[in-house]
Amino acid sequence: MSKHSLPPGVVSGKDYLTLLKSCKEGGYALPAVNVVGTDSINAVMEAAAKNNADVILQLSNGGAEFYAGKGMKDGFQAKVLGAVSAAKHVHLLAAHYGICVVLHTDHANKKLVPWVEALLDHGEVFYKETGKPLFTSHMLDLSEEDIDFNLSECARLLKRMVKIDMSIEIELGVTGGEEDGVGSDEIDNDKLYTQPEDCLKAYEILAPIGHFSLAASFGNVHGVYKPGNVKLRPEILKNAQELVQKTKNTGENPLDLVFHGGSGSEKAQIEQALGCGVFKMNIDTDTQFAFAQGVGKFVLANEKAFKYQIDPENGTPYKKFYDPRKWLREGETAMIARLDEAFADLKSAGKSLALKKSDVMAA
Ligand SMILES: [Zn+2]
Repeated sequence: MSKHSLPPGVVSGKDYLTLLKSCKEGGYALPAVNVVGTDSINAVMEAAAKNNADVILQLSNGGAEFYAGKGMKDGFQAKVLGAVSAAKHVHLLAAHYGICVVLHTDHANKKLVPWVEALLDHGEVFYKETGKPLFTSHMLDLSEEDIDFNLSECARLLKRMVKIDMSIEIELGVTGGEEDGVGSDEIDNDKLYTQPEDCLKAYEILAPIGHFSLAASFGNVHGVYKPGNVKLRPEILKNAQELVQKTKNTGENPLDLVFHGGSGSEKAQIEQALGCGVFKMNIDTDTQFAFAQGVGKFVLANEKAFKYQIDPENGTPYKKFYDPRKWLREGETAMIARLDEAFADLKSAGKSLALKKSDVMAA
């Protein structure tokens, strides 16, 4: 049994910090998987349980909207209620998978600040009812704005979040690539790399208020590009950690760093990032592709079942092939296989802090 342990289920507040500490001390990180519905959510929890690992589930505003249903007329309301609904699904089920789950929302730029604030309205109600926040943390990505605005806005929301045991994730420097409308074309190269001085500034402003994690740009991009197009420079993370440690007289790796755009990264560079205090690596593109491949393979192998309920030539009924449980499950199992790889790359397999039934009985 590891020296830290936690009750299984959604973690927040002090328990979340325990989980982070365990990651950084143990030199491993948790995959943060973007989900869009119960299929992907359940696949991620199943993969975590299979690997005896803890995991981060996150929704983008688009993912949340999809969760509520594309047919909902009020798109803003769908983004809010979809996220709330997904979070409640996870609160109900996570403990039964026997693992710890961090619940998080992904990128929110200036236009989406009202989305985060609406989620906090719901989070405050949930906290009153249960003593727990709805989400472990929300991300505010104001990296396209100037840094003073970015940090003052993060500080304003963090003040509200700490009252309900929440954390914030912020971004400094712009991570390139396509994800919910953040493009990389017109950004000059300097901006792809976060400056250590800016990380120090963030630490000085936010650490006195509450807990924050930091998505720093070190050449990472969203999505998958041709090999060689991504030049990761994890030494940038190291420099930021060292500057904060030296200036603020902290322990080693004081910043809790997040690696955005983890899909398609080389294994050696992932390993290097792990040594620099990265506890979370976002993965979306690769798990999307895995899900699609699983479904696609099945459809191509059983083409007739997707055209006819009953074979027009020999009368074979195809119900057991077109039943959505059949082909959606193919997507889920392919996604789980890709996540097996992620847990191995991030060294988090076998490291779940969740108390097992057998531990409770032995104690
Ligand atoms: Zn991102």
